[in-house]
Amino acid sequence: MHEIVINLHMHTVYSDGTGTHKDIAQAAIKTGLDAVLVTDHNVLVQGLEGFYRVGRSRVLLLVGQEVHDQDRDPQKNHLLVFNANRDLSTLADDPQALINGVNDAGGLSFLAHPDDIASAAFKETSISWEAWDAHGFTGIELWNGLSELKTVLHTKLHGAFYAFFPHLIAHHPMLETLQRWDDLLTSGQRVVAIGGSDAHALHMHMGPVHRVIFPYDFHFRTVNTHVFIPEPLTGDVPTDKKMIYEALGAGQCFVGYDLPASTRGFTFKARGIEQSVIMGEEISAKRGVTLQAHLPIPAEIRLLQDGKTIGIWKDSQACAYSASEPGVYRVEVWRSYLGLKRGWIFSNPIYVR
Ligand SMILES: [Zn+2]
Ligand SMILES: [Zn+2]
Repeated sequence: MHEIVINLHMHTVYSDGTGTHKDIAQAAIKTGLDAVLVTDHNVLVQGLEGFYRVGRSRVLLLVGQEVHDQDRDPQKNHLLVFNANRDLSTLADDPQALINGVNDAGGLSFLAHPDDIASAAFKETSISWEAWDAHGFTGIELWNGLSELKTVLHTKLHGAFYAFFPHLIAHHPMLETLQRWDDLLTSGQRVVAIGGSDAHALHMHMGPVHRVIFPYDFHFRTVNTHVFIPEPLTGDVPTDKKMIYEALGAGQCFVGYDLPASTRGFTFKARGIEQSVIMGEEISAKRGVTLQAHLPIPAEIRLLQDGKTIGIWKDSQACAYSASEPGVYRVEVWRSYLGLKRGWIFSNPIYVR
């Protein structure tokens, strides 16, 4: 398997972002990403997918959309849609019909920023997911850069502070979202976790100060989704697009917070008597399974079974655990950064049946 680093969920001038697809591609190349998935609000921008190049470097830019009902007040239930290849915003007023429409179109759907809070200082309402009776979606956006920012924006002054010190913002996914994810997984559903930036590259004006706050390249260095594809990107857009969306849909990926240190190189595997699998896959518990995680550099590894921590390895680069019981197993990795313990890696689960 080959690991590629993707940043997903971002906005351009086609909705409420300030940059173009070309700006995004250039920022992605500058930060060393392999691919970016652009998701403007309620519009599927056509004709801009492809490899963008600067010198000898390239990045694959793919286009999905973020659909929500603009007539709803407050504007809850944002859904990230990938690979549907048609505009599904006409289904926005009914989350279940929208998810069904994505599935009918062969696409992937992820509940965006499921637990989002209001920010009174910035007149931002909560845009969390509310339609929890909906089913059939691919997964959830476990970690959203903008939702987390709203948790620290208590006043305008906080906004100005974090605009200049954005590396202090990210701590970990919302604990409510982690809990919801574990609840869905233990109820027997397969739910793929992804990390999104929700990058807009917004402009801030405070008196004489004008600054692009949280520019694309900042987001691209923070929360990324690392995806395992069967072979390196080929340069052929349809082939590469298919590999990426198949792996994302299957959960062969993890969420990595790459600012403290690159999470490239992380693996989580299970080995049984006859079979070896990676994140997103299923393996039989018969005759036992060995779960193994490996990190690029030492940190604190936590292994969870059905939402409960069953092992902690402090300051370790690898761990192994012999599992005899069926369950949904996933790994979290935590490390210190700028004086606080922060989430670093959140794997997708291995389903031991
Ligand atoms: Zn949104
Ligand atoms: Zn968004």
